[in-house]
Amino acid sequence: MILVLKRVFKAFVLLFKNNINLRRGVYTALSFATVLSVFVSVLSVTDLTYAVEVSVEGESCGYVTDRKTVERAVDLLHASSVKNDSAYSNPDVDCVYTFVPSTQLISDSQLADNIVSNHNDVNKAYCVVINGIAFAEVTSIEEGIATLSGIAGNNRFYNSVEIRECVLSTDAKGRLKPLDERIDDYIVTKVEYQAVKGDTKQSVAQKFGISEESLPDFNVNDVVSIKASLPALAFINEITTQDKKSIPASETVAKSSWQITTYKEIYVNNIKLRTEVADTQLAEKYPDKPVATAVVNAGKKGFCWPVDTGYRQYVSSFWGDGRGHKGYDIAASKGTPILSVYDGKVESVNASGNAYGLHFVIDHGNGIRTLYAHCSQLYVSVGDRVERGEVVGLVGSTGRSTGTHLHFEVFRNGVSVNPMNYIGKR
Ligand SMILES: [Zn+2]
Repeated sequence: MILVLKRVFKAFVLLFKNNINLRRGVYTALSFATVLSVFVSVLSVTDLTYAVEVSVEGESCGYVTDRKTVERAVDLLHASSVKNDSAYSNPDVDCVYTFVPSTQLISDSQLADNIVSNHNDVNKAYCVVINGIAFAEVTSIEEGIATLSGIAGNNRFYNSVEIRECVLSTDAKGRLKPLDERIDDYIVTKVEYQAVKGDTKQSVAQKFGISEESLPDFNVNDVVSIKASLPALAFINEITTQDKKSIPASETVAKSSWQITTYKEIYVNNIKLRTEVADTQLAEKYPDKPVATAVVNAGKKGFCWPVDTGYRQYVSSFWGDGRGHKGYDIAASKGTPILSVYDGKVESVNASGNAYGLHFVIDHGNGIRTLYAHCSQLYVSVGDRVERGEVVGLVGSTGRSTGTHLHFEVFRNGVSVNPMNYIGKR
């Protein structure tokens, strides 16, 4: 009974037999609906199902549920093809609508396999594919991985190297050598080369095994795109370097800081290609700067005492003492924090070996400046804005000094004045 029915449907199907690309629009909606209703009523009493029979070069490759499955199978074949073998980019697939028992339907991947085995001129092969091009053949994926990882170790290949099952034309497969024979071979590959001082067309051409004529004109630092001849299995190396540059304080930057730039130097086959900036960031110049433990407003106009009062200290010499001492000497242990006595801007910083040793001057505005000398450490740079009570340095004994102390001076309009009027006696 089923056989008889099947034959009847085949007759119907013959009416529709055509390339699926051409079928649409050939029949009117009415006639299609009529035929479909007959099909459906007959299908309900059989195990037959609507299907697409796929053929290549006149040979059937099997039945699938719909045209989408055929498209997926062709996509799979595309994915298995390689750039240098266009012979098999578009299999000539014929599709015919028919009815078969549902058990005969196959999947997209089975269909792809059948298309390959039915096609006279295509073959499957395990390939090492470099930059999308079949480079060598291996007997299995595992063998390919073992050989390549043996070569690479912990290195990374410069080119895109993959191992996969490919569909190749017989011609392409015939030209493919085993991986063992190709390990040292060169290929043409694209590099971005940054010209350095001293480069000439001749030297660059030599570096990349190419002709001078193939190079464009370039200047130092230009990044040139070059089709270089390099080992197919060359390695890429990246070396990270850092550069620290002082950024002075400005209208927008309150404190001088470090600009830390991280560079990536890129090498292929031990040839330096270029240097790329990987990262740039501003860093605090004095990350270990302490915070004052105690700030005392010791004088008039809101000035504070210049040495952290949380530390032991005493004034060993006042202004005018001895042979006209020009400031206060405040004796304290080495490393005791020195504070800016008022808000201001660092006018100068001096590390020279004069009498003051390591010292600096802060401009507080209104003609008032303060000087801090004999420091062991500074936490300010020229231009930095500082606040009253902020730690600006550490007590030391640099310059002409006997014992660790801060020599502190106040200037009004450039003339040394008694600090008493600003910071009191304490
Ligand atoms: Zn002094």
